[in-house]
Amino acid sequence: TYYTKAKFLTSAPDIKHLNDEGGLEVAFAGRSNAGKSSALNTLTRQRNLARTSKTPGRTQLINVFELDEQRRLVDLPGYGYAQVPIAMKKKWQASLGEYLQKRTCLKGLVVLMDIRHPFKDLDQDLIHWAVSANLPVLALLTKSDKLKSGKRKAQLLMAREAALAFCGDVTVNTFSALNKQGLPELEQILDKWLAL
Ligand code: GDP
Repeated sequence: TYYTKAKFLTSAPDIKHLNDEGGLEVAFAGRSNAGKSSALNTLTRQRNLARTSKTPGRTQLINVFELDEQRRLVDLPGYGYAQVPIAMKKKWQASLGEYLQKRTCLKGLVVLMDIRHPFKDLDQDLIHWAVSANLPVLALLTKSDKLKSGKRKAQLLMAREAALAFCGDVTVNTFSALNKQGLPELEQILDKWLAL
């Protein structure tokens, strides 16, 4: 598959600075520490493609990775740090909303959330924008290895019900970067979104 071929293409300070490219892209978003970098590294079988975050609240860039000439993964900055000034948050939200609405090459959004704390306010906002822009959303419950199988299943069912109640048709799956639980399912969904 092309995920293992991922290589760094470009960084942008914000969405407005992304080139107007053709092809297809899928974006990854989540609260800081949700496990986004770990998931991207697991997906691409690369140790250091996406940096796992060590510096809370640091200004982050959008990183774009190329899979092949037609396909890209977009790593959006983590959100949810209390220290970030309100003005910056507002600006980020506005530009993110615009990206989800107007980026025609964008074929899907993966929203990563710690399985123990899914659907916080900002996650819900983001999912709402994506759904209202008719963008397919995969809510990925990360760090699934943190829960035993029974608890994990219960949490997944609860999250699916919650998603159905507040935003309709959103796919919810579990994932672990540690033991690769959910990796085939993740790839299957991305394959579908990235099909030419
Ligand atoms: P990001 O800020 O969303 O990019 O999150 P990171 O990928 O940097 O992960 C945040 C923290 O969660 C790090 O300490 C990771 O080692 C840990 N982590 C990420 N994914 C998993 C996972 O699947 N299982 C476990 N147990 N820990 C994880």
